[in-house]
Amino acid sequence: MDEQDIKLTEIVKDMAKTLGASHVSITTKETLKDWHYTTDLDYILEGANSAVTFAVPFNEEEDLNENINKFLSKENHKELEKQKVRATTLANGIALEISGLINQIGYRAEPVHSNFVYRKESPPEYRVPPLSHKFLAVRGGIGHMGYSGLIITKEYGSSIALASVVTDAKLQPTKSLPLEDNYCDQCKLCLAVCLADYMIDEEDVEQIDKDTYIAAKKAHPMRCGYVCTGSTGYKGGKWFTWSPGRFKIPDEDSELIEIYQKKAIPAQFQRNKLNGIEGGFFHPFFPGYKIEYNCSLCQLICHPQKKVRKERYNKLVNSGVIIEKNCERIPVTAEKAEETFKKMSTEKRKLYTD
Ligand code: SF4
Ligand code: SF4
Repeated sequence: MDEQDIKLTEIVKDMAKTLGASHVSITTKETLKDWHYTTDLDYILEGANSAVTFAVPFNEEEDLNENINKFLSKENHKELEKQKVRATTLANGIALEISGLINQIGYRAEPVHSNFVYRKESPPEYRVPPLSHKFLAVRGGIGHMGYSGLIITKEYGSSIALASVVTDAKLQPTKSLPLEDNYCDQCKLCLAVCLADYMIDEEDVEQIDKDTYIAAKKAHPMRCGYVCTGSTGYKGGKWFTWSPGRFKIPDEDSELIEIYQKKAIPAQFQRNKLNGIEGGFFHPFFPGYKIEYNCSLCQLICHPQKKVRKERYNKLVNSGVIIEKNCERIPVTAEKAEETFKKMSTEKRKLYTD
């Protein structure tokens, strides 16, 4: 590696951190080892040599914990959501700025969006990203792979947004973290909080070079889409997500997709029109595009300390369910919500349930 490549590597790492990233990694075709088709740097930029991937935490550690607790206990939805959206926007901005600098000094570089951009040749319901920031992040040492399949860090758990820049500059790769430092003990609380059953409790094991990555197998991506965007948030029991929707979450994928697309999304769009939607973020496949995070529970429940994870879980399962009243989302007990639904007109109930 020549001196200029080493110098540029240091500049790019410093730039990501100066602009707001907490962790930076660099991967190359050599360190990615053709892991997966979503780690193909040439898909982004023909002739690429390396990728810079960085993490932006939702907030500083102490404030983050407080806001996660408020989100999980249904005290406050907006603060944490705003932080998640802004971290994603900042990650996109950093990608744009780094690629701009690299381009200006004579190399080719492409920023890759943090989220909500998908490969056009793949069916939209599979939500295939141009590049897997997660795979690049774990190979380059930003964090470890959690059983959730998310990247977990010892500072912020999985409450981070990731984005990347792919370039033909020959940047110096960073090392993956020692596997024995992975704090994921397979407590499986990330699975326990997923009402959509998106994660299947069977190990998906990948061996890349000397590293082994273990995550839960995944079901159809529409399962997460259905719940995370708030079309529904209900599966019986004492607690829901932040969604007031009570559409069924069937075991059969085909049945789930049918309810999601034909009933739950139109009803949610109608609710948004009636009650307003502050947002949130913008998604290409949702009517009106504006949408809010209603779940993210697999991400928010995770923390390096098991004790904190358990406390978070307890907050969630005692947080009740959401009803909408005077255009506001209010947490109540499951029993109270049931009473409210019974009193609703059939027409109004159709906005919330099938
Ligand atoms: S919640 Fe538990 S099982 Fe899931 S990623 Fe975190 S530590 Fe691992
Ligand atoms: S965001 Fe919610 S629905 Fe999606 S995988 Fe995580 S817990 Fe499940």
